[in-house]
Amino acid sequence: MMDMHTHTSYSDGVGTILENLAEAERKGLRLLGISDHIHYFTPKSFNAYLRDINTAGKDSEIVLLSGIEANIEPNGQDIVEYFAERLDYIIASVHRWVETPREYIELVKTALMDDNVDVIGHFGANFPYIGYPSRDELMEILELAEANGKAFEISSRYRVPELDFVRECIKRGIKLTFASDAHWPKDVGNVSWSEKVFRKAGGRKEDLLFSELL
Ligand SMILES: [Zn+2]
Ligand SMILES: [Zn+2]
Repeated sequence: MMDMHTHTSYSDGVGTILENLAEAERKGLRLLGISDHIHYFTPKSFNAYLRDINTAGKDSEIVLLSGIEANIEPNGQDIVEYFAERLDYIIASVHRWVETPREYIELVKTALMDDNVDVIGHFGANFPYIGYPSRDELMEILELAEANGKAFEISSRYRVPELDFVRECIKRGIKLTFASDAHWPKDVGNVSWSEKVFRKAGGRKEDLLFSELL
């Protein structure tokens, strides 16, 4: 039904926007988001990116949204205002190496307080390597997300967040998205893990970000 996290050759993916869209059509998706890594863009390539997304979307039954994946850094997110004003949504993810779950939580908290951020990408992908945060730390994250209207993606690539966390999001009215994090067109729409966890957690259509477009 939706895949809000896909990459193309505008960053480190190998396909084009049209190839991602064709695969989404083949798999019967209703909503597709293109979300290339922000640090690959110049103002010029960014304008071409937006133009390509808009052109491709016009000729498709699928709702095609322009997104970007920004990096959560200790000094804030690397989001350019010019980009933020022109995109449908922004994902912010931790990609840098951190040593402790506390450090990870503190980084995500800054993103949850950033007006430009809509969705937290693959929350907890690092936990198997750095250790798991405490329940209190997770509660802090959930409270901040709820208060600031932020969403979390359910990532089929990293298989995060955990079921209990998703359940808690739904209970609090925190919106969710499905995310393949595809870097190849063939992986676009591979969100069955996301759907499974969402259903298990009791999610309904209204619990999804952009549900009005579905
Ligand atoms: Zn990422
Ligand atoms: Zn990604």
